[in-house]
Amino acid sequence: AKEKGRNTFSYFHDDLNRISVDKFYLLKLMRDALKEEQFHLYYQPQYDLSDGRIHSCEALLRWPQKGGQFINPDQFIPLAESSGIIHEIGRWVLERACTDCMNWRTQGFGNVGVAVNISMVQFRGGNLPELVETILRRTGLPAHLLELELTESLLISDDNSIQQQLDRLHAMGVTLAIDDFGTGYSNLGYLRRFNASRLKIDKSFVSALGVSDRDKPLVRAMIQMAHSLDLKVVAEGVEDEDTLQQLRLLGCDDGQGWLWSKALPMPEWLDYLQQ
Ligand code: C2E
Ligand code: CA
Ligand code: CA
Ligand code: CA
Repeated sequence: AKEKGRNTFSYFHDDLNRISVDKFYLLKLMRDALKEEQFHLYYQPQYDLSDGRIHSCEALLRWPQKGGQFINPDQFIPLAESSGIIHEIGRWVLERACTDCMNWRTQGFGNVGVAVNISMVQFRGGNLPELVETILRRTGLPAHLLELELTESLLISDDNSIQQQLDRLHAMGVTLAIDDFGTGYSNLGYLRRFNASRLKIDKSFVSALGVSDRDKPLVRAMIQMAHSLDLKVVAEGVEDEDTLQQLRLLGCDDGQGWLWSKALPMPEWLDYLQQ
């Protein structure tokens, strides 16, 4: 959300539908949304570029409003983080994603995993690994099918507790991916320290590939660097065939984007898998 002044958040579906609300009011709306189960998870496929199969998907949070519009996660996650309510939202997201993934597993899509976005704030308190362990046990989802997407800002912080939690998650068999790669400081040292298995190239680099050659050397370097560290590379924001072609030539492993599908709610996602 654009923060206007100290206490007002402005969220909008498009420029014609801008609603400004008090921060505290938005926070109250989020609390109600949690209680009344207004949040939904949508799933966007991630394709293996070598065999063209769906390898996994990313769970993306959606908050539908009465008029059929959505408040985008970018517009409420920041306030959820600063207020701490992200702990509850994040718990709900993990539980929902693991439950849904078990659901498509039992329908015959046993190898399609799920990637969940984790906010840095969720590592405060130190019990994210316990939470994940409890949810995996309760849902029965094998750990290797759950991937956690973490941003570089988390990994850059020199926090011993975060390192320990990531080590524990890795030891449990949960996969770690680095999200929005290339947008942060990109201190490469942390890539090895944090046992990540996948690196997601930010869509700002990917979408430019189809248009001009400017970012190509950059993307090529990211892919080569990742591969030399034994990391798989996922390109996000793949919107057209040209971009896909470029990514294939550059040796990118997986792709995600509107070329294949937007994020879909559960019944549609099952239909999509069926095709
Ligand atoms: P992200 O993790 O970088 O997610 C990718 C964003 O790109 C998503 O936006 C997705 O809908 C969008 N996208 C997918 N394919 C394409 C494409 O081909 N072209 C373009 N232009 N965009 C594409 P979304 O769903 O609005 O999410 C925005 C951000 O909100 C996410 O960025 C993530 O940082 C955050 N977020 C979403 N769900 C959660 C959640 O459950 N927990 C937390 N902590 N953050 C979340
Ligand atoms: Ca993500
Ligand atoms: Ca991303
Ligand atoms: Ca992002």
